[in-house]
Amino acid sequence: MNGWFDQQVLLAFDGARWGLVPAAWAVFAAAAAVLGACVGSFLNVCIYRIPLDQSVVRPRSHCMSCGALIPWYHNLPVVSYFVLRGRCARCGARFSFRYAAVEALVALLFVAVFCAFPPAGASAPLGIVPVSLGGAEGAVPSLRPLGAIPVRWLFVSGLVIGTFVDFDHYFLPDSVTIGGMAAGLVCSLLVPEIQPLLVFVHAAPDGPVTAIRFAEAHSRWAALALSAAGLAAGFGGLQAVRAAGTRFFRRIGHIGPEEEAMGFGDVKLLGAIGAFFGPLGALVTVVLGAVAGVLVAVPLLLAGRRTLLSRIPFGPYLSLGALLWLLWGRRLVLAYLLFAPPWRVAL
Ligand SMILES: [Zn+2]
Repeated sequence: MNGWFDQQVLLAFDGARWGLVPAAWAVFAAAAAVLGACVGSFLNVCIYRIPLDQSVVRPRSHCMSCGALIPWYHNLPVVSYFVLRGRCARCGARFSFRYAAVEALVALLFVAVFCAFPPAGASAPLGIVPVSLGGAEGAVPSLRPLGAIPVRWLFVSGLVIGTFVDFDHYFLPDSVTIGGMAAGLVCSLLVPEIQPLLVFVHAAPDGPVTAIRFAEAHSRWAALALSAAGLAAGFGGLQAVRAAGTRFFRRIGHIGPEEEAMGFGDVKLLGAIGAFFGPLGALVTVVLGAVAGVLVAVPLLLAGRRTLLSRIPFGPYLSLGALLWLLWGRRLVLAYLLFAPPWRVAL
């Protein structure tokens, strides 16, 4: 167990895994940041307009105060905000700092997704086996698995829209949740590499487990089946929790007879997360989201701010859980399985 995590972290940031020289890798990472900032600029439009049922394409960006169209050279993500000091070039009205913050956040997320690929721990202990593009060790490197990167970018973009709309309006738009379910199914068919498969390797047919690793779904149809199973598990599982929670909280009088313990949007969101990352991804997401929720709820309860918890907005926690799954989930699952009986094995 000597520094397994350190090795994994090194591997995750080692451009050589790509068969690219690190300089080229850095250029790609920088390009991911620029692309992320531009996408973030578009997501700002989506966050503002989707809840108002407005088109996200037309009209072009304009000042909310004087109505002036914003020319492209004043609409550069992050940069323009600081050049114009957060004001409209024509009338001087203030723009919210959040626009620039969302652009910077999405740039950061795009780079993080890029750096976390191929997923560290895709093929890991017992004994450290470096991951090579193309899947199994010794396989001919192929660029095909790189298709998972744009899919993951699409996924985090949906999470950003959902989270900020939820903060602003206390609901998750169907275009994100139901749209996400459809996108997850289609993307699994187009890029089967996004669906992880946990594999237990036995030395002999009836022998003990000698290795646990992640493999990618081998066929489009296998990936589609995993996606559908993830959708059903995420949606159905959280809907069951929601129904049980509602019954319980109504009985103890914590919520009114017409109120629900959790929004239906959260249920649909976990369905979408499952469609992208399968049943295991949905399960890990909800566990990590619940842990994050408890970490926030306990200090609030201790501080006597009970009313803040009367309706639990689970969406942002689910988004956080899904992000953690995306970046480090495979490593977490492998670490858990390696140290949890009955898989515990001498390292
Ligand atoms: Zn203006």
